[in-house]
Amino acid sequence: MPVDEYRRKRRRDRTPEPFGNKASTGTRASGLFAVQKHKARALHYDFRLEMDGVLRSWAVPRGPSMNPRERRLAVMVEDHPLEYADFEGCIPKGEYGGGAVIVWDRGEYRMIDPPDDPDEGVRRGRFEFELRGKKLRGAFVLIRTRGMPGARSDRREQWLLIKRRDRFASERDLLSSRPRSVISRLTLDEMQRGSRAKRRAPARARN
Ligand code: MN
Repeated sequence: MPVDEYRRKRRRDRTPEPFGNKASTGTRASGLFAVQKHKARALHYDFRLEMDGVLRSWAVPRGPSMNPRERRLAVMVEDHPLEYADFEGCIPKGEYGGGAVIVWDRGEYRMIDPPDDPDEGVRRGRFEFELRGKKLRGAFVLIRTRGMPGARSDRREQWLLIKRRDRFASERDLLSSRPRSVISRLTLDEMQRGSRAKRRAPARARN
């Protein structure tokens, strides 16, 4: 199964995260992208690109930047199912990745180099693509700096996510100026509080 590692790490009956196996929607040269803001043990952004029917995923501790001078560390993590691009909510404490998640940005991407094979780009350790999101726009590059494909999960591949110079490049910090979910419009803290309120609600209803 393409998302074996994903499934191994999670318990279906304990987490609201999706387990589906939706078929790929994009052609090989384009597909979905999503960026999720995730307050697990440490706050980070998960950057995901649809490839081969799954979401190739990188954890970006400082989040993506629109400034070509900023290089953002992106640690490759396990492939996620396509449905994950729409997932937000709260993963219960104690479960894998426990904490609140919002969809910070979402849209489509298109390969630039190599032009039609994102997998070749991943194998090569360098590929360039264009994002068409609500917040992230224009060309970006991912460059592998450390680790080999298929390495043990405690030795994840390290990549750098860097904005290319184009008309969308900017020094504006979108992470702080546009912090809300593109789906629910909630901030990550609001998502976390909302979920706590929901858990308390049944107790109040009995009174
Ligand atoms: Mn995460």
